[in-house]
Amino acid sequence: MDTGDDGVARLDRLHFALPAATQADARTLCFVAFAARHREQRHSIGTEVGHRSKLRVPWTRREVAPHRVRMDNLAHALVGAALGRAVADRHVPLAGVIGAVAANAPDWTELLIGLPGPPDKYLVLHRGITHSLVGALVEILVLTLLVGGSWRLASRPPWRRLAACVGVAVLSHLFMDWQGSYGWRPFLPWNATWYYLDWVASADVFFWIVPLVALAWGANRHWIPLAGTLVVGGLMTLIMVNARHVAAPWVLVAYAVAGIVAAVGWLRYWVGPVARQRAATVALLLLAVYSGAQGVAVQRRKAEIRRAAERRFGRGASWAALTEIGRPFTWAAIYASSDTIAGADWALPRHLRVPAVVRALRETADGRAMAQFARFLTAEVDTAGTGTTVYLRDARYARVEREGWGVIRVRID
Ligand SMILES: [Zn+2]
Repeated sequence: MDTGDDGVARLDRLHFALPAATQADARTLCFVAFAARHREQRHSIGTEVGHRSKLRVPWTRREVAPHRVRMDNLAHALVGAALGRAVADRHVPLAGVIGAVAANAPDWTELLIGLPGPPDKYLVLHRGITHSLVGALVEILVLTLLVGGSWRLASRPPWRRLAACVGVAVLSHLFMDWQGSYGWRPFLPWNATWYYLDWVASADVFFWIVPLVALAWGANRHWIPLAGTLVVGGLMTLIMVNARHVAAPWVLVAYAVAGIVAAVGWLRYWVGPVARQRAATVALLLLAVYSGAQGVAVQRRKAEIRRAAERRFGRGASWAALTEIGRPFTWAAIYASSDTIAGADWALPRHLRVPAVVRALRETADGRAMAQFARFLTAEVDTAGTGTTVYLRDARYARVEREGWGVIRVRID
């Protein structure tokens, strides 16, 4: 799970390793190097840097897919509902609904601590304290007490079942966030280290369709659950149609087959309310096997990437196998040394020792936010016009863009 990622500590070492006297020279050198590298980069990877900085992106959208997809909340809700049913059906009323709400708790509690906010706040708070182990414990306790306390039952609420239902749902959120390449910080507030499993992408169609089918098959024959299933299924299909150029062909085929099987199973009444708890359990086991299989498969890819990184940048190289949305069982390689970040067919200078960049990272809220967030930090300094602008990017998400997700713009006076 440790993939040798970059950290701020490393950045600090770099900065302090540079004696003050050489910093002025470094500034000149770095700018010269920046210009030279930019020219070189322009020729080698086909980026056009015109007067107005019109950049032609030399890689496909797939590699820099938008990662602020809120579709992961759909997966959290469906997995949470299946967990609620598997753990507490018939013991806890509305176990599926409670599971769905609890499974999204780490995200919606972010609204209570200051999100949505400006980009720097988002980078710090998202997947922050509400996703930590301590935060999850608080969420489980509070939600259990709220739900149990609001019950008007003749008998006492089944506290243990309820706590188990809420507990597994909240923990499923943490695991699902961990299994991607965005990462999570389990030990906040004491330790802000990000952990990434790099198994399954943050938006994965099987994490939607498998629990949805199990829930639909087990639902009562009533228009409300049917309408809900059709709305969610329709939305998923719309996303799949839109993403057909991004997704691997076998994923599209599997999705279509799953849709047909889902319809047949519903019409033939394969499950029904009597067997719905078992259906939810089977769906969750399938997802566990699917996720675990990627966890096994990625080990070979990681070893391969690590070897390539060491060949290219020596023993101290950092590297990662990044999940790709729509393409399960494939991972994009990313390698880094202290001054270059590279992928299979691209390379970028990092510029982390340029004084303007060091200042941006240390002295501005935006810069500090990016420094703690970025897994592969790069910078670009623009001195054209008045003042200096530093673009800080996380190369997982942005490589040449000047705005959007994964880029922060800092003005230095
Ligand atoms: Zn989350």
